[in-house]
Amino acid sequence: MSQASTYWNPFVETLPPEKIRQVQLKNLRRMVAYAKQHTVFYREKYRHIEPEDIRSMADVRQLPMVEKEDLRMAQVGKEPFLFGELLGVSPEEVSDFRQTSGTTGTPVYVPESRESWQWRVEVWCHILWMAGFREVDRVFIPFGYNVYVAFWEGHYAAEKLGCMVIPGGALDTIGRLNKMQEVRATALLNTPTYGVHLAEAAKNMGIHPPDMGIRRMVCAGEPLPPATRHKLETLWGAEVYDHIGGTEPCAWAAMCGQRQGLHIMEPFFLVEMLDMENQQRDVAQGELAVAVVSALGRRSFPMIRFNTKDIVRKGSNGCGCGRTSQKIEEVAGRMDHLTKIRGVLFTPVAVEELLRGEFPQIGEYEISVERKGTLDEISLIYEPLEEMEQTAGQELSVILSERLKIKTNLTFRLLPVRPGTLPRYKLKAKRYKDMRGIQRG
Ligand SMILES: [Zn+2]
Repeated sequence: MSQASTYWNPFVETLPPEKIRQVQLKNLRRMVAYAKQHTVFYREKYRHIEPEDIRSMADVRQLPMVEKEDLRMAQVGKEPFLFGELLGVSPEEVSDFRQTSGTTGTPVYVPESRESWQWRVEVWCHILWMAGFREVDRVFIPFGYNVYVAFWEGHYAAEKLGCMVIPGGALDTIGRLNKMQEVRATALLNTPTYGVHLAEAAKNMGIHPPDMGIRRMVCAGEPLPPATRHKLETLWGAEVYDHIGGTEPCAWAAMCGQRQGLHIMEPFFLVEMLDMENQQRDVAQGELAVAVVSALGRRSFPMIRFNTKDIVRKGSNGCGCGRTSQKIEEVAGRMDHLTKIRGVLFTPVAVEELLRGEFPQIGEYEISVERKGTLDEISLIYEPLEEMEQTAGQELSVILSERLKIKTNLTFRLLPVRPGTLPRYKLKAKRYKDMRGIQRG
């Protein structure tokens, strides 16, 4: 294959790693200078920092991090209206309004200028191109995107690639499946939850999903553990690609055709992978780390050393696809979901991985943690896909209990419920509930 068809931007994607680092540091200095000059937030935060002094990664480490809470504090009740002290351009230059989903609290409002929006779209062009999206594709997006950014980015980027884009909002699931068939869609942008739901709905209509001709799918909005990704690939007979990112910094890593780990989108971003204890030390390859992300070209909402709280495993510095960017081996969870239960570190992704990988007979599930007296109790409520005989149900719960114990070091209280009992989520699933902080009257 020629370079032109392998890469969206052959020059950028094959830069030697030393060169990537130089470009990142240069652009970080520029971004710090810009942010200090144009936002109240960074002027205050970086008052003792001179951009020219940032020469090495050790210098980068001296910059204070930005936490999600800082963003809220800089917006609520602050001028200029709506975006507050984080706005990096004049209010007249803002062309698009986005916001975070607010899953972890008050949403953050995110302004885009035309220039900053184009920067985000360009990052997404890389993501889609790596996932094999091309001019010939008809890309169906089965959502109304509202004020949430990922599918807008995917929409604009697919258009820029030359694909045909079909927005699938304001339809129900059956309407969407009909539309996909009508236009012979070849690609999907989806959440993992809805990807499964859509395939199941197709089956209920008597359609074998792989016959629909979907060849590739990029997922957004939720974690995508390997077992769930494989499940989607089997359901659709398609290649399924993961990426990671957020509304604040943009998408910053994504899968290439090898589908082994994710490439950091360098040099658009500088991503530090730091130890989870005190976030001071760069981890070695193979270790778990928290990702701290600086977006290096977006002026409307400067994001420098943003603590994503995403837990990733550091990967290699090269790949079979020929791209030279740093990789991450896997996305392992979120710091705000990483919790201690009876002294054991636990992340709900581990349960999803186990259920999707080993228990195909289980459909929906929910995990909840409660405090009973002085002890924490963790429960798994699960729903078999079909009604089960009593003995089969008991056998399932014995094996499930053992496998959960081995995978998480915790003893779960198992609560099977009848098929169709648990809520169905379409966009983003909420399958984990930690109720230990809730006072009961
Ligand atoms: Zn690769």
